[in-house]
Amino acid sequence: MLDYVGLEADLDREERMIRDTARRFVDEQVRPDVGEHFENGTFPTELIPEMGDLGFYAPNLDGYGLPNVSETAYGLLMQELEAGDSGLRSMASVQGALVMYPIHAFGSEAQKDEWLPELATGEAVGCFGLTEPEHGSDPAAMETRAVRDGDEYVLNGSKTWITNSPIADVAVVWARDRSAADDGETGPVRGFLVETDRDGVTTNEIEEKLSLRASITGEIGLQDVRVPDSNVLPGVEGMKGPLSCLTQARYGIAWGAVGAARDCFETAREYAGDREQFGGPIARFQLQQGKLAEMATQITTSQLLAHRLAELKERGELRPQQVSMAKRNNVRMARDQSRVAREILGGNGITTDYPPMRHMANMETVYTYEGTHDIHTLILGEDLTGVAAYE
Ligand SMILES: Cc1cc2nc3c(=O)[nH]c(=O)nc-3n(C[C@H](O)[C@H](O)[C@H](O)COP(=O)(O)OP(=O)(O)OC[C@H]3O[C@@H](n4cnc5c(N)ncnc54)[C@H](O)[C@@H]3O)c2cc1C
Repeated sequence: MLDYVGLEADLDREERMIRDTARRFVDEQVRPDVGEHFENGTFPTELIPEMGDLGFYAPNLDGYGLPNVSETAYGLLMQELEAGDSGLRSMASVQGALVMYPIHAFGSEAQKDEWLPELATGEAVGCFGLTEPEHGSDPAAMETRAVRDGDEYVLNGSKTWITNSPIADVAVVWARDRSAADDGETGPVRGFLVETDRDGVTTNEIEEKLSLRASITGEIGLQDVRVPDSNVLPGVEGMKGPLSCLTQARYGIAWGAVGAARDCFETAREYAGDREQFGGPIARFQLQQGKLAEMATQITTSQLLAHRLAELKERGELRPQQVSMAKRNNVRMARDQSRVAREILGGNGITTDYPPMRHMANMETVYTYEGTHDIHTLILGEDLTGVAAYE
């Protein structure tokens, strides 16, 4: 596996073990069928509990039976899962960084006890409802609202593009608490744990995707849905709630994208050695070597960024803007390099028999979700100049 500047020589025992466990899991359980799942638009749901048994959901958190592994180990896990498919990494990212993390960081003791152990084992599946049909890059403009009625809240609104909503047991729904609004109109954003079997909840699947096909995506409809006020995440108010979850997930994406790109590189390198044209392997052509050299260089610089992020995160010094830089860079890199790998594979490259074009299609989603490439550009622009350019 490409590790050109020997970063993995510095891994400790636990980090190696987690990397190897995830790599083996992907080789044995994912690679054989992932092309078929991609073609059929299905996710291998039977792997959800197995991923839980292997500790793939939020292993970087502590307490409640969670192992509190290093941020490097967590990153390596995301890298190996995404080398299999972005849909697989998305499953672990949503469950861990977008559902377990907010419960862990902002939940009550009762909420933590109720949900964290079940989510960790994959007995329960969670989803994260922030995006709305009319509000994607600007989630602060959300229309989903909660109004207090006695000791309950009544939720109304709709969320879309929600990974795993059709199979989720619980949704972390972000809504404006209108009862707490000074003007009776807007109100602070708060997080609500909404069990998907409550009256008024619908979770229709979005089936027409040409990207991230081996992942289940849906909507969340909320029509007069009543939840007790004990379902509100008590520890956070405002956009800081969802945005801090996104920082966790984007960290995992910065690592994951490297895995997808590495898988493309390894496939292309092997193919170039095997495929013969004009009397010998295509790997002897300078044009193909140029492509492989550039891929290896781009992947290596992205790996360096991911490893540095892990060090900063471990020290508690990682800033969201640094995560934006890595998400932006590494996903663009994977998007570009998956296309180059596809080229090296010629006609075979357009099939699901080989991973590059599947990764390439997936990268269109990864480039867009968790903050589009453009939005991360604006986050960096604001950080570098002090001037916000969103509006
Ligand atoms: C497969 C998939 C899974 C997803 N899973 C989840 C999930 O689990 N939970 C969840 O809440 N969301 C999820 N999302 C939603 C995702 O986060 C949004 O698609 C994303 O935030 C972009 O929003 P949008 O699609 O509405 O695009 P828009 O915000 O409408 O953007 C359209 C274009 O305009 C650009 N743009 C927007 N604002 C600006 C600006 N100020 N300056 C310059 N350009 C701008 C964007 O960069 C983009 O190119 C998922 C999306 C996909 C595709």
